[in-house]
Amino acid sequence: MAPRIAVFGSVNMDLVAYVDTPPARGETVQGRQFSQVPGGKGANQAIAAARAGADVVFLGAVGDDVFGSQLRATLVDNGIDVSGLRTVGGASGIAHIVVDREGNNSIIVIPGANGTVTGLRENDTLLLDGAQALLLQLETPLSGVIAAARAGRSLGVTTVLTPAPAQPLPQELLECVDVLLPNQYEAATITGEDTPERALAALLETVPEVIITLGSRGALYGARDREPLWVPVVQVETVDTTGAGDTFCGAYAVARTEGQDPESALRFAAKAAALSVRIPGASTSMPTRAEIDAF
Ligand code: ADP
Repeated sequence: MAPRIAVFGSVNMDLVAYVDTPPARGETVQGRQFSQVPGGKGANQAIAAARAGADVVFLGAVGDDVFGSQLRATLVDNGIDVSGLRTVGGASGIAHIVVDREGNNSIIVIPGANGTVTGLRENDTLLLDGAQALLLQLETPLSGVIAAARAGRSLGVTTVLTPAPAQPLPQELLECVDVLLPNQYEAATITGEDTPERALAALLETVPEVIITLGSRGALYGARDREPLWVPVVQVETVDTTGAGDTFCGAYAVARTEGQDPESALRFAAKAAALSVRIPGASTSMPTRAEIDAF
């Protein structure tokens, strides 16, 4: 039977404008291309886990605007249970992204409905009960993330936190986290340490299991009862790394909840993430279980 994974977090519409040179203050420029892509770390992790083979339930909120129905439909199309997705009055979350000629981006995130996810409803607790893992990020208000982590902990669900955007993590959250999964920048910001090894050691003082992803250098895994493990990157032709970390997270959670040991779950996650960087976009690039197994 497929493992059941709950994801509590953000869902955005990414509105991406491609320009040669971004406009200066007061200037209007003509762009080259526009794309509208479902995103938000919560939705991305949910889609990654669903494609990697889990039975996923999503807890979050969209607005009652046109993006809200499109975002809901995207989750449903990926086979995700949306009984924990609220529709609230007002705008859905959006990320307004400008990508220049060199591929550098600048991003404005307007939380919209994501900003209303400040706690858990009774129905959310019922949805969490029966999940083997709960995936959390920090794109919705901290009070809700803490409430979800606490509920997960008290129900015996394995909690996995991606601490993005990076910020100081309160003790009341850390004490409910089983697996912390920062990228190298988030790990450095949280710990103030400048090498992955030192950041890993510092983070293991607060949570039992840590994975620091290092982009094209792979990942570093650590747990309290064992030596750190370097996870090699799977070499592919890189087109767009957006969403690589979310793909890694979703796939790792699926493999662990299926009972795989950390080494084989990390290899599975690295394969899934490598497959995702070969294709543009975040949710659009996430591989299916058949693609990961065949790779
Ligand atoms: P984030 O997207 O959160 O910043 P990373 O950039 O660290 O996360 O990437 C997450 C994982 O995706 C890495 O640990 C690696 O396994 C995989 N990955 C990232 N970039 C590449 C790449 N260029 N080629 C292959 N795999 C990659």
